Amino acid sequence: MSRSAGQAMPRERYDVIIIGSGAGGGTMAHALADTGARILILERGDFVPQELENWDPAAVWKDLRYRTTERWLDEHGQEFQPYTHYNVGGNSKFWGSVLYRLRREDFGAIEHVDGTSPEWPIDYETLAPYYDRAERLYHVHGLQGADPTDPPRGPFPHGPVPHAPAVARLVEQLRRLGLHPAPLPLGLIRPGEADGCQLCNTCNSFPCRIHAKSDADVCCVRPSTTRATVTLQTGAYAQRLVTNAAGTRVAAVEVVRGTRVSQVEAPLVIVSCGAVNSAALLLRSTSDRHPHGLANSSGLVGRRYMAHLATMMQGFHPFRPNDTVFQKTVAINDYYFRGPHTTYPLGQIQSQGRTHGVMAQTVAPAIPLWAYDAWVARGVDWLAMSEDLPRDENRVTLSRDGRIQLHYRPNNVRAHEQLVREMKRILRRLGFWVVMTHSHRSRNTTHQCGTLAFGGDPRRSVLDPFCRAHDVENLFVVDASFFPSSAAVNPALTIAAQALRVADHLKTHYLGTAPHLTETTT
Ligand SMILES: Cc1cc2nc3c(=O)[nH]c(=O)nc-3n(C[C@H](O)[C@H](O)[C@H](O)COP(=O)(O)OP(=O)(O)OC[C@H]3O[C@@H](n4cnc5c(N)ncnc54)[C@H](O)[C@@H]3O)c2cc1C
Repeated sequence: MSRSAGQAMPRERYDVIIIGSGAGGGTMAHALADTGARILILERGDFVPQELENWDPAAVWKDLRYRTTERWLDEHGQEFQPYTHYNVGGNSKFWGSVLYRLRREDFGAIEHVDGTSPEWPIDYETLAPYYDRAERLYHVHGLQGADPTDPPRGPFPHGPVPHAPAVARLVEQLRRLGLHPAPLPLGLIRPGEADGCQLCNTCNSFPCRIHAKSDADVCCVRPSTTRATVTLQTGAYAQRLVTNAAGTRVAAVEVVRGTRVSQVEAPLVIVSCGAVNSAALLLRSTSDRHPHGLANSSGLVGRRYMAHLATMMQGFHPFRPNDTVFQKTVAINDYYFRGPHTTYPLGQIQSQGRTHGVMAQTVAPAIPLWAYDAWVARGVDWLAMSEDLPRDENRVTLSRDGRIQLHYRPNNVRAHEQLVREMKRILRRLGFWVVMTHSHRSRNTTHQCGTLAFGGDPRRSVLDPFCRAHDVENLFVVDASFFPSSAAVNPALTIAAQALRVADHLKTHYLGTAPHLTETTT
């Protein structure tokens, strides 16, 4: 299996290679674009075309037009189609653009009913200035001071997206129940303006046809690639990383483009393939020096996979048609640190984009579409989300034939069940007759994270606090892999903020250019 860097293959040379163009890689490319360094972005997918199907629920949810056709194996060896996308911008093209900071407490150890959420090697204050920059880069709208769990922060770059009238009424009802609903932080480009986001009902899980959702393609990759020094290669699959003979540095990236295999070289290699694929890439990159996968002296590569425990909830009232188009504007964080009847954290609740009949039909296809359409027209959609706790057995491995295998059982289930019960109670008190729930359970890969955790101790982490592999001098990973814990808010703003922090570190220590701001604490 092992192959040295010396074998004859066509070579291209750059200063920096970034593998993957999603939330982590795209942000990194943007942050380094002005350094003058010659940057190559390798992206296995292509651009998502701007076409009518972008906003067609049948194309997106029934035909799965934009989803990977790849099949992974679950822990029983059963095939499944992961909910993930390979294209420029990665999964950010399909995200709901709910762009949260972790709570300040999430950076410390937190006791949960089913275990401990481990501490991070950096604190909130270290990441705060990069959250500021990430929020500006991704046009985040929100309201400072409205959410009692918010960490210390200044004003958002943009004010909150206003609630639709029906949502505003629900917010008032929630306040009367003693809760503290707050505007959801949303990354949208000029929402409500003539040339901006139309606040339509195809945001979460759909690509934006008019490029008015803040995603890594629109905000980062396209602006970066206008620079002559930044090259994007699409359809370029990084198959493995090849090290020098001592195994201390990545000497080349082996790339497959169609049927052609070649190698590219750079003194800095930044992996950002997403938590599952980055782990798989390192596991594929075995050599005599790294027989169990690259950067795996801790044995932790691929382990501690996490994916939030998430349940879609819908409050239904037969005589209350829901005419709201954009309803994804409110969050309830009252149970983030403790439930109403517990001493442990439960998680967070957000209003969700409108469910379309076609989406609901994917759960039980036998029921006719008209029935679903009638149902969802009277439903208000929510998401209940709890922290998943890391455990070594939850992991990414490669099967004998090289396929990705995901061994995963959600952790912290009791807290999540309690959160769902509380939300059901709340929805009934808001007057909904029935509350429907649905969960992807163990096949939920949308908020994947944690497979290459960062930390100070090389025996207990794969990456150092600047996301450099402990074992490999010139290998960095900036995507959801580095999370030591998953917290219970959406992950992407933290991925982007850490990418900006690592970019500043690279500028200072590797590329010889001044960062935008100087960090004094780590
Ligand atoms: C439907 C949906 C809704 C979501 N909503 C939200 C939300 O509202 N808020 C939020 O914070 N998060 C949300 N997420 C999660 C968010 O999209 C991810 O956390 C984020 O995109 C992860 O960033 P990443 O850089 O780790 O990986 P990705 O964004 O997935 O990027 C990885 C990139 O690497 C490429 N790649 C993979 N392997 C290789 C290889 N071997 N060679 C070359 N390229 C490769 C992929 O094609 C992809 O472009 C959502 C996700 C989905 C699917």
